[in-house]
Amino acid sequence: MSRRPFPEGAWTSGCGLLPVEEPDMVIGRLYTKVVIRMKIKFWGTRGSIPVSGKEYKKYGGGTACVELRTGDDEIIIIDAGTGMRKLGDRLLNEDRHLYHILFTHAHWDHLMGLPFFKPIYLDKTKIQTYGCPVSQGSLKKMVSRILEPPNFPVKFEDVQADFTFHKECDRSFEIGSVTVTPIMLSHPNQGLGYRFSENGRQLVFLTDNELKYRHPGGLNYEDYLEFARGADMLIHDAMYTEEEYRHTKTWGHTTFTTALKLALEAGVKTFVLFHHNPERSDGHLDRTVDECRRIIREAGSNLECFAAREDPEHFIEI
Ligand SMILES: [Zn+2]
Ligand SMILES: [Zn+2]
Repeated sequence: MSRRPFPEGAWTSGCGLLPVEEPDMVIGRLYTKVVIRMKIKFWGTRGSIPVSGKEYKKYGGGTACVELRTGDDEIIIIDAGTGMRKLGDRLLNEDRHLYHILFTHAHWDHLMGLPFFKPIYLDKTKIQTYGCPVSQGSLKKMVSRILEPPNFPVKFEDVQADFTFHKECDRSFEIGSVTVTPIMLSHPNQGLGYRFSENGRQLVFLTDNELKYRHPGGLNYEDYLEFARGADMLIHDAMYTEEEYRHTKTWGHTTFTTALKLALEAGVKTFVLFHHNPERSDGHLDRTVDECRRIIREAGSNLECFAAREDPEHFIEI
């Protein structure tokens, strides 16, 4: 967990890459303290299955994969959906070989990018993995089954990277300067959500989480409300419309209106729609965001809202 400088050029362009200067009073004199914040990049935002086509150009077609850089520049990767392939190429270009991968759960859309993440085939790669294996015995079993003939020609035992497995189900742990707190999701076959805390800033990541139905091992709406309370950013599964939910209840996902309700009631600053339905075109997602903003205005709230979109060029500061 060594500290290292940000890669050259990382401060010079894009959204949210500059360190934030905050006034700090020390013994009666005004100093400027540089606060380096965690920041995220979306590499895959889709749920269930990757999609392609001109109607998905704006928000992207890759499945769940999010990169988080801590203030001391540790690399955290949340989930290994198909967006992970391009992330691997970028990390190799940056000559970075140490990563932390947090898995939410074992469904394919959250794992199927791992065999195409090129760094796993290099012996200088070191990967710390975290997650809760629930019914699958071990985290190693949960992760390695994606690299298993005849599903894939390369066996997990034959990859070159050095993997370390950390079973984390219910206690907080540290990655560099970030404290990570897990919470059980309400989802078929279970899963984990995470809260990331650093320098007083909070990011809450809850995908594949059905707020209106309690699956075995999951929690109630009120529990997720407490978990998200006051976060600077809440990224939440917003897969369905209310109309779709009439026939998708118990499938493990939430409507964008219920996820927005959680964000409003929890008093978060920014709400990010995630795990986009593969049926959802760019135009439909734009209209969904417009509808969220209308609800927010009517509620008299200043909550920020947007839909996660693949953007390999820009980090979003939290
Ligand atoms: Zn999913
Ligand atoms: Zn799932």
